[in-house]
Amino acid sequence: MIIGVPKESNPTDRRVPLIPDSVNKLVKQGAEIHIETGMGEACGFTDQDYEKVGASIQRSGHNLLKQSDIILRLHKPSLKEIKSLKTGSIHVSYLDPFNEHELVDAFAAANVTAISMEMIPRITRAQKMDALSSQANLGGYAAVILAADRLDLSLPMMMTAAGTISPARVFIIGVGVAGLQAIATAKRLGARVEAFDTRPVVAEQVESLGAKFVQIDLGDTGETEGGYAKQLTEEQLELQRLGMKKVMAQSDIVITTAQVFGRAAPRIVTADMVEAMKTGSVIIDMAVETGGNVEGSKLDEEIEVNGVRLVGLGALPGRVCKHASQMYSANLLNLVLDFWSAENKSFEFDLADEILKGCVITHAGELVNDMILNARKNA
Ligand code: NAD
Repeated sequence: MIIGVPKESNPTDRRVPLIPDSVNKLVKQGAEIHIETGMGEACGFTDQDYEKVGASIQRSGHNLLKQSDIILRLHKPSLKEIKSLKTGSIHVSYLDPFNEHELVDAFAAANVTAISMEMIPRITRAQKMDALSSQANLGGYAAVILAADRLDLSLPMMMTAAGTISPARVFIIGVGVAGLQAIATAKRLGARVEAFDTRPVVAEQVESLGAKFVQIDLGDTGETEGGYAKQLTEEQLELQRLGMKKVMAQSDIVITTAQVFGRAAPRIVTADMVEAMKTGSVIIDMAVETGGNVEGSKLDEEIEVNGVRLVGLGALPGRVCKHASQMYSANLLNLVLDFWSAENKSFEFDLADEILKGCVITHAGELVNDMILNARKNA
């Protein structure tokens, strides 16, 4: 079975989908690995690094797509690329299947099995394949480092002969995987950290990291079975904004990470809340790629609003691309190996399996994913 890895074409993201160590492990299982020339370059891996562990380097990305039985990649493909894929092959990548209707339909029409990394179910067996978590973790870290760089203050308290510097105040909004890592990182750097999430269950986690959980009574919020937040009503969002505005006015850094699975990110920071912040303070909108938590934030741009720096840079895990690639590559490897037969040297596809049932979007010419089918029905 040929596993192909095309070169990524996103210029703002230095991550690569598969690192040589994972290629080595797949080759040992009898897989034939084809790598498009230059695939690892952005992150410092050369063609020779891949050749050394048994991959074959392909000059033509188009031929690689045409010949591979499984394609492993990071970003979603273009419509044109889907047309080049081999009939009956498997394509694994981020896909944004709730919104990318045209791509999903193109996969079905091309009779390609599309696996969406966002849809790996959150069950214990699949934790090692959970790319949303592995990347959010590094994204949370990178957001704090980026904010610290943009801030004209130091983060820790310092007592010196010339006087005392008080710690910077950091407010984290949304305490999932990214938010927890952002809290831990800001704490390690010595900041005074506060955090808020609509799921009250996370208060204990926030406090265990030495940060303060901001209490805002929103009434019933709850969470889904998978541990994701539910969408709030407009009244609840307004209560949240009022509660957060006071904390924001005192914060030097605000990092927003709020997401609602399968929907656009909630707009929770309005222009007047940004205006309430001190001159020189910094906001990092980590949800900018899914619509943004902050009014006015723009993807891949940094803008100044009344003296507040509003950072909307995307692909934050790509700022620590070696570690992010290592983790994503391990997620892909674990997914493939879970269904790999060393005897037959092939991926044994089983749509009844709980993991594949969750993340396979199209198969045998049809849209087969229950969640996406339901979302389309209710749209
Ligand atoms: P996410 O990326 O979907 O959302 C980030 C955070 O935003 C969440 O904590 C969510 O509650 C919060 N949020 C949503 N709307 C908000 C609003 N209006 N204001 C403030 N915050 C808001 O979530 P995630 O990081 O993927 O994780 C969600 C939960 O799932 C976490 O508790 C995490 O620990 C858990 N988890 C479980 C597994 C597993 O395998 N069981 C794996 C990964 C994560």
